[in-house]
Amino acid sequence: MIKLVVLGAPGAGKGTQAARLAEHFGIPTISTGALFRTHMAAGTELGELAASYINHGNLVPDEVTTGMLAERLSEPDVAAGFILDGYPRNLEQAAVLDETLGDEGLTAVVDFEIRGTEVVNRLLARAAIEGRSDDTEEIIRHRLMVYREKTAPLVDYYRERGLLVPVDAVGEVDEVTARTIAALSDAG
Ligand code: AMP
Repeated sequence: MIKLVVLGAPGAGKGTQAARLAEHFGIPTISTGALFRTHMAAGTELGELAASYINHGNLVPDEVTTGMLAERLSEPDVAAGFILDGYPRNLEQAAVLDETLGDEGLTAVVDFEIRGTEVVNRLLARAAIEGRSDDTEEIIRHRLMVYREKTAPLVDYYRERGLLVPVDAVGEVDEVTARTIAALSDAG
């Protein structure tokens, strides 16, 4: 059973890579950002609440996010394993995840490494294609700041636990996927 977390700054390509790893390992990807966007598109109460944070590039409060994730993790398709994309986003969420998973815990945490200037360009390119409500330049810069302050400390958190698998995220999509699969098998 494989239980992975993918980390990386916004624009590092972790969503794309998570989908490919999910296909490779035959397990589902759980993206909290995608779950929020589904709620926003459907106009649910949770979606409206989430939008008021997401559209400003801020994190949705932990209790809302964790509740939504717990529901998703109770569905039968995660029994064979899963890839978490976008959760945890801060140290508090990481502690909740540790508690939820119990003794066996995560298999590995992949950190997609990329430089700050590269991510802004990637995100602006994605904005033009996907039309996400949080992909304007100002909001992108704010999301990067939130990432550095709240999410980046998770890299040390997981390194200290011997779970971190760093992967260079610069290159062709296929190349990065191959690199990730190799790094995970090296990590055993
Ligand atoms: P993403 O698709 O992962 O880039 O997420 C888009 C937005 O959804 C983020 O900028 C946050 O506002 C929100 N979000 C996604 N995952 C989380 C989380 N684990 N905790 C809080 N907010 C989240």
